[in-house]
Amino acid sequence: MLPVVALVGRPNVGKSTLFNRLTNTRDALVADFPGLTRDRKYGQATYEQKQFIVVDTGGITGDEEGIDAEMAQQSLRAIDEADVVLFLVDARAGLLPADIGIAEHLRKVNKKLFLVANKVDGIDGDSESADFYTLGLGNVHQIAAAHGRGVTQLLEEALLPL
Ligand code: GDP
Ligand code: MG
Repeated sequence: MLPVVALVGRPNVGKSTLFNRLTNTRDALVADFPGLTRDRKYGQATYEQKQFIVVDTGGITGDEEGIDAEMAQQSLRAIDEADVVLFLVDARAGLLPADIGIAEHLRKVNKKLFLVANKVDGIDGDSESADFYTLGLGNVHQIAAAHGRGVTQLLEEALLPL
């Protein structure tokens, strides 16, 4: 069984963009409107000969009803199945209440967890990421999934123990 890396976070933070980059596909739907990827989506990825499964999720907002509740359930199941969880936040949008809600859940889950601030292209990543340290989840890994920046370093660290 290959190790499983789950991408979680609220809608629109760039989970599907990272999924596509890791799996070299355009399969995951990337869209500007939140919540398009309703279901978990699995892809296979390789980094330095290490193979792993990536799971894309629809996103959690922390305050769900209807289809959103279903999406959140999928995300929670994806977290359950994962060996490593990449918790994505949006460095451009900054820290939002939904991020805090997700962080509270993740803190209770006994998984290897990496906090990832996406979209640091064209902004001051350090200052825009400073708030995310208040989540208390340790180091904030800065990436720009759309351009690949920081992704190698993230994989290096996240896959190391697998
Ligand atoms: P998801 O809902 O979390 O799966 O987010 P998506 O992958 O669909 O991305 C949401 C939006 O953010 C899209 O318009 C992406 O093009 C954009 N996006 C994703 N990654 C980056 C990035 O690294 N930099 C910038 N500037 N935009 C990004
Ligand atoms: Mg998506």
